[in-house]
Amino acid sequence: MTHSQKCPKCNSAMVQGFVVDNTYGGRSVSHWAEDAPQKSFWTGVKLPPGLLIPIGTFRCGSCGYLEQYARQEFAAK
Ligand SMILES: [Zn+2]
Repeated sequence: MTHSQKCPKCNSAMVQGFVVDNTYGGRSVSHWAEDAPQKSFWTGVKLPPGLLIPIGTFRCGSCGYLEQYARQEFAAK
């Protein structure tokens, strides 16, 4: 799928990117997880048992509006 999207706020071009997760000693792409988040003493939040789907984020070059999609194609390659 191609992404030549227009901003729904100001109709300018949107650019593909992703939200960076900075972890201890590394970086990754943010993922969508199904269910409400639950706190974990050890890890901050518990991971639900279902799918984790990488999130692609599009940013408007004019107003900065962000739009996100959770799809496998947005995983790091
Ligand atoms: Zn915009």
